[in-house]
Amino acid sequence: MEQGAKRYVFGPVMSGRLGRSLGLDLLGSRICSMNCAYCEAGPLKRLTVTREPYVPAEAVLDELRAWDEERRDRGEPLPDAVTLGGLGEPTLNSDMPRIIAGARAILPGVPVAVLTNASLMPDPAVRAELALADAVLPSLDSLVPEEFARVNRGHRSLDCAAIAEGILAFRRESAARVYLEVLLVAGVNDSDRNLALLKEFCTRLAPHRVDVTTLSRPGTEDWARPVDPATLARWRSELTPLAARSGEASPGIGAGLADTAEKGQEQCGAMSMVEARARIQASLARRPQTAAQLSRALLADPALVARALAGLVADGLAVESRREGAEVYFQTRG
Ligand code: SF4
Repeated sequence: MEQGAKRYVFGPVMSGRLGRSLGLDLLGSRICSMNCAYCEAGPLKRLTVTREPYVPAEAVLDELRAWDEERRDRGEPLPDAVTLGGLGEPTLNSDMPRIIAGARAILPGVPVAVLTNASLMPDPAVRAELALADAVLPSLDSLVPEEFARVNRGHRSLDCAAIAEGILAFRRESAARVYLEVLLVAGVNDSDRNLALLKEFCTRLAPHRVDVTTLSRPGTEDWARPVDPATLARWRSELTPLAARSGEASPGIGAGLADTAEKGQEQCGAMSMVEARARIQASLARRPQTAAQLSRALLADPALVARALAGLVADGLAVESRREGAEVYFQTRG
């Protein structure tokens, strides 16, 4: 492994919702309770709702400690957030509470966020663990059972109505911020029926934020395509205003994002080639990306990304994975 390359720690990358976010992968491979048609994390290894220490807390936290030492050596500031997510569903890792506590101890003052597909949120024990985080970002793509089945292709035990009730219960029980995400797939979950149900749900939930997105990169299935800009704009105009306004002005995760982006660009001006290669490798290990996407996600100079990518390809560490028109996607080798 090159200096700086990590297995479970990746980034920081720029996140629209969280600012400069350091990712922790709690699964090590794509182990998930769903098999979403739009997933970018590669082929599914295991579809399960069984909780286990898939990656033990010590393995993640040892890497996080090492990352923090390297960060100090480079003189870089702390990230804006530590985000539990990665290749699969993080709540499946039964060591999640220890990882949250450990991340707080290693990076004091840095908010902890959890990206979740919400599938285990009907379980009160999982909700109690998620309440240890500062922010929870649940996904809920459809409340129409047939659409939920087609887009998310979850474990047979999952039920979208029960998941919705789990998210609502979490909002009542916890002080954590809740940022809901809805991802639209053209012709599948962009129906008026789903929009009406999600509007009713968001009115009850009053999340701190609602993000409606669509595919920006190739997903698992070729038929999963983005919705057109007009549809996306319509959904956003219907759902975004249903977020609770109270508290958004207070400093917290994602607050002051423009400021964060400016700081990030300054830091990345000084990114070394070794660091760029390590970050690109870690990012490509999670999903194929174009040079432009890497540059945006890593806040790195496009010329530096181009040189680092060329070097990784020449060294056999990255390969071209596919082309979409003029767009060339790269992935790690093997
Ligand atoms: S929940 Fe996330 S990790 Fe799991 S299949 Fe869907 S997109 Fe992929």
